[in-house]
Amino acid sequence: MRHPVVMGNWKLNGSKAMVTELLNGLNAELEGVTGVDVAVAPPALYVDLAERVIKEGGSKIILGAQNTDLKNSGAFTGDMSPEMLKDFGATHIIIGHSERREYHNESDEFVAKKFAFIKENGLTPVLCIGESDAQNEAGETLAVCARQLDAVIKTQGVEALNGAIVAYEPIWAIGTGKAATAEQAQDIHAAIRAHIAQSSEEVAKNLVIQYGGSVKDSNAAELFGMPDIDGALVGGAALDAKGFAAIAKAAAKAKA
Ligand code: PEP
Repeated sequence: MRHPVVMGNWKLNGSKAMVTELLNGLNAELEGVTGVDVAVAPPALYVDLAERVIKEGGSKIILGAQNTDLKNSGAFTGDMSPEMLKDFGATHIIIGHSERREYHNESDEFVAKKFAFIKENGLTPVLCIGESDAQNEAGETLAVCARQLDAVIKTQGVEALNGAIVAYEPIWAIGTGKAATAEQAQDIHAAIRAHIAQSSEEVAKNLVIQYGGSVKDSNAAELFGMPDIDGALVGGAALDAKGFAAIAKAAAKAKA
């Protein structure tokens, strides 16, 4: 039985006041909520503060991050390492987000290297995959997702996906308010799982596959009602404590 995971990707949003207020709100909203893992990925500069606010609130919120680089120390100006993130309690690291693929030219191979390095450091990669609007129109959705997954499977073996999280995020749904329908998302999630099952049914069966792209309180229950949707990666709606907590509660309820 897969345990649902709802993760907030705060992107480039935050200040000391905002981080404190949002996490205090989440600590309160999520008190007593079970049956779902809730994670947040603040901007790297605020991971330290986030760790302290989560600890002070005594909550079970999992701390994550939005990126990492490929070395743990040395002459790599401006880089950030998994070891440093781990030092501040961050465990779930988002990689392959379409914004990094697009604005930082991150290739499938580069993302796969990050995946391996995160695992080597005992952390959990949250691997984002997904197609553009044009690729969707051209019927290439599954081919794109398979190619992005295969960059990991072919270099590290399918077992590398054990304990990792995959987030299916159609680019056309990110930040647009135009989420995939629950049926559309379910079809792709099932196809992604079937693709992985070609290498290992066991790995495919146990893998948490999140949906991401304009998830809100209002569409969460329907999405989580689908058998292959195991949670969500949430952008905009993760910046509001009540709304984000409602999404997490919807996952707990749907998967109970
Ligand atoms: C994201 O950026 O990962 C995302 C899913 O954003 P939004 O929820 O705002 O569409």
